[in-house]
Order: sequence, then structure tokens, then C-alpha cells
Amino acid sequence: MNSSEGAKPFSQHPDTRLVTSGRDTKAQKGFVNPPVVHGSTVLYPTAEDLHAHRGEFQYGRHGTPTTRALQETLMALEGPNCAGVGIAPSGLAAITTTLLAVLKAGDHLLVCDNAYRPSRNFCNGLLARYGVETTYFDPLIGAGIEALFKPNTRAVLVEAPGSQSFEMPDIRAIAEVAHARDALVIDDNTWATPLYHRSLDQGVDISMQAATKYIGGHSDIMFGTISANARAWPLVTEAIRLLGACAGPDDVFLALRGMRTLSVRLAQHYRSGLDVARWLATRPEVARVLHPALETDPGHAIWKRDFTGASGLFSLVLKPAPQKAVDAMLDSLKLFGMGYSWGGFESLAIPFDCDSYRTATKWAPGGPTLRLHIGLESVEDLKADLDRGFAAFNAAI
Ligand SMILES: *Cc1c(COP(=O)(O)O)cnc(C)c1O
Repeated sequence: MNSSEGAKPFSQHPDTRLVTSGRDTKAQKGFVNPPVVHGSTVLYPTAEDLHAHRGEFQYGRHGTPTTRALQETLMALEGPNCAGVGIAPSGLAAITTTLLAVLKAGDHLLVCDNAYRPSRNFCNGLLARYGVETTYFDPLIGAGIEALFKPNTRAVLVEAPGSQSFEMPDIRAIAEVAHARDALVIDDNTWATPLYHRSLDQGVDISMQAATKYIGGHSDIMFGTISANARAWPLVTEAIRLLGACAGPDDVFLALRGMRTLSVRLAQHYRSGLDVARWLATRPEVARVLHPALETDPGHAIWKRDFTGASGLFSLVLKPAPQKAVDAMLDSLKLFGMGYSWGGFESLAIPFDCDSYRTATKWAPGGPTLRLHIGLESVEDLKADLDRGFAAFNAAI
């Protein structure tokens, strides 16, 4: 993992910042993009420089011109409250590194019950073994989280919205309570990205992303980012140094390349996702569509207040039906692939069950649940594919 600090002007539109940041034409010898630096050793010109650790780069693990370009671009997108961006080899590594950075033995951690399951596994496994206690909370708890605080509560992990059940926590209310108790707020911002959710401006201290998803955008990298404010950045950068992991240069480069087109891709995912969600809401086979940008969604008011867009990931609850009908639907889909992860150019459909591992709240959807990722294909073709899926579903009931 690498880390870098630096500031960029924020007067321009985020779309412009995504395109212009992290570029140094002269250093790149005129080329638009930085080189993909494969490197470990950095040579020092003199013994004096070596003794003083002088120089822009000291060692491959601590950063290269490629990682710096990526970090500057993400910092420019996050805005003035971002004091630094750390790089992790996966989204999960970004979460685990962040938790290790801010917690110590004897601390207490609060985690949203709709958090990404592997994040929970880390808390219940390694963190518990190292003496950190985790309490899960209802995603809709809001300021009521106050009652769960203990004198040793050091951090709160939220995910807005949860990437399966799409409940929308009130991060502002949670952050207000956390800060009054001197705890840090960590947000898994993978769904919206900082383009649609500037969480560092809304009370979040550390905003991490599985850059595997929309930052990469092409289902071809594993990558994570950790953006921190001035209060949290020293902890994050220290943990990154101590843990010693770093990402491969090709993945760093692809993440940077993904960021250049993030805005147009997300705009299309947003538009197409909402279009398909509205269409699904009219289908007789569908009991409920879980998408915070829908006016009927329980999280809509918070989404409208805190987010400037939505991505292409949402869920739906089908009318009660046997598993074989759901499987028949999935097997008949031609454009929607079945597989984990999301955020690439391609559409995906996956059944999920988030009730089996939740502990603070019961999530009783009342029917089979599917999560869809709406890719960059034509919306009409996607609807036709789902229509075919519903025909197979109905035939198998
Ligand atoms: C995928 C995902 C992660 C983990 O990212 P990886 O790169 O797969 O390790 C973390 N949080 C959320 C919300 C995710 O969807």
C-alpha cells in the first residue's frame, strides 16, 4: 500500500478534476498518462541523500509515479476534507487496514448490520481475537446509536446503502453522536463513489472504496482505496506503512484509467439502473424494488439529502415462489451474468440471503431476493432479457 499527500484546487467541476488531476505532462515526457512503474529499488544519487531519505520516492512499496497520479486524482475528487489517500490491494484490505489503523485491544467497535459480510467476518474473527469487541446496530438507528456507545467505543463502520438490502443509514446523525463521543466514523462508499456521495463532507472521517467495482469499472482488477480527513490520516498512513502490503502497478494504472471515465460510466449506470428499477416495480412478479433513488424507497429522503446520484446496483424482492422458479429465471437470462462483484460494464444478477448472518435486526423480505447490477448495455435489451427471465419464472411456479 502506498500513501501520498498533496492538495489540488477544487474550484472546478468534479468531471474536470477527474480528467485533469494527477497529470504531469513534463514528468511524463509529453505523454498524457503516467508510466506503469514496476519498481522496488529507488537509487539515491549521494550518500547524504540516502542518509536523509531525501527524494520524491524512496522505495516501491511506499509509492511510485503511478500510485501518486492515482492518489492525486482521488484526492481531487474527494474534495478539501481529504488529507490523504491510501492504496490497498483489494476493497476488503482497505476495510481491514482501516479498522486495524484506528482500533487497539480493549476497544469497542459499532458496525452497521447491513455491512458487507466479509467486513463482519474480519470483526468477528481477527479483531475479536485481538481483543476488539464489535456490536452490530440497526442500519436505521440514526441518532439512537447513542445508546450503544460505551466508554471504549472508538469507531463506527457504516455502509450507505448496504450493498444487498439497500437500507440507507443516516450517516450525518450517526457522525454527530460519534464525534461527541470522540469516535471515528468509517464509511464503505463503494456503491456511490465520492462522485455521488462526498462522505468526507458529511461527518465521515475515513471513506473507503472497493475500487474493484466502479473505479476500475471493467471487472479486471482487485483494488481498494482509503480516503481520510486530517484527523484520521496519520493513523491510516501509519497502519499502511506498518502492514506493508501494496498493490500491483498494473492494477494501479487500470484504476487510474478507470477514474478518467468514471463520470460518464456512472451517469449511464444511474440512468439505466433507475429505468430498469421503475420498470421492475410495475411487474406482477415483483413485490418490492430496493433502490434508494426511487421516491417510494424508505431511504429516499436521506439519499436525496446526501447523494447526488445512484449507481447501477439495487435489489428486488420477488413474490413468494419456490427456489426452482428463481433458478429457472436466472438460468434463462442471457445478458445478466451470474457472479460476484459488480461495478463493471456488464450486467449481473445474483440471489442473496442477508438474513442468515444479520444479528442486530431481522430482515424478512417475504420472498426470494435478487440483486441486479445494471451495466452499460441498452436498457431495452436488458428489459427484454428480464422479461424472458420472468416467463421462465412463471412457467416454473
Ligand atoms: C466488493 C465489496 C467490498 C470488497 O472489495 P474487494 O475488492 O472484492 O475485496 C467491500 N465493500 C463492498 C460494499 C463491496 O461491494
